[in-house]
Amino acid sequence: MKGLISGIKRMEIHDGDGCRTTVFFKGCPLRCLWCHNPESLFLVPQTAFFSDKCIGCGLCNGNRNEQSADACPVCAQVYYGREWDAESLAEELSRDEDYFRNSGGGVTLSGGECLLQGNFAVELARLLKKRGISVFVDTCGYVKRGVLERIIPYTDRFLYDIKAIDPAVHRYCTGKENGLILENLRFLSEQGCDVEIRYPLVIGYNDGECEKIGAFLRGLKGISKIKVLQYHPFAASRYLALGMKNTMPDTVTTFEDVERSVSILKSYGLPAVNGILED
Ligand code: SF4
Repeated sequence: MKGLISGIKRMEIHDGDGCRTTVFFKGCPLRCLWCHNPESLFLVPQTAFFSDKCIGCGLCNGNRNEQSADACPVCAQVYYGREWDAESLAEELSRDEDYFRNSGGGVTLSGGECLLQGNFAVELARLLKKRGISVFVDTCGYVKRGVLERIIPYTDRFLYDIKAIDPAVHRYCTGKENGLILENLRFLSEQGCDVEIRYPLVIGYNDGECEKIGAFLRGLKGISKIKVLQYHPFAASRYLALGMKNTMPDTVTTFEDVERSVSILKSYGLPAVNGILED
């Protein structure tokens, strides 16, 4: 079974417990204005060209593809979207098994939206669990219920994004309404899954949603943590290198902004933490 992967990051400490390897899947059903992984939005391979890094050596012959990216000596070209079969990828990820065990880490399936390539994600998670490796699934929740049901047995924790409760705010910020996302979160909670919520705080866009998020989450069980994430418009060069329109809002979330949201969420009795301090 084949899957399209935009990248693999080893020794990651921001995507769950311990030392983890994060696998970035290609493709996402949402179009968040502030997306900082533009290379993972589309379910097709893409080559990014970073003109400021190019030394004009000519080894790529002016091409922009997988081979020319491999040939580039200074990574001025990066190819996003390598095809993996599930067995080979599980084998590759197992290289760091000792680090996972010693640190309480494992593998985090991320993206993009990893569950968009549902069959591949479920198979990869199954193979990793068979090897005794912890699997976290980082999801936007805008996914088919059947895929969620099938990956639950192989998932130790869901890292679940909540961006807004108001459907109009959600649609404006992500291009999609959030009914399915909230229903899927309720479902995971009812199934007794361990769920860590991620709330990316983007001032001027979804900071007004904090109270509503608190009121919604208060009624759910299984929420082990709510991490409020700081926003920076840091992916501009990747949008440019990919030839994509940069949609990132020109606003910065401060430490105090995050602290304010954390204390609002705590006032609802929720286990909220400041993502800046945790990361
Ligand atoms: S191989 Fe890389 S550094 Fe050389 S010309 Fe091509 S893009 Fe530029």
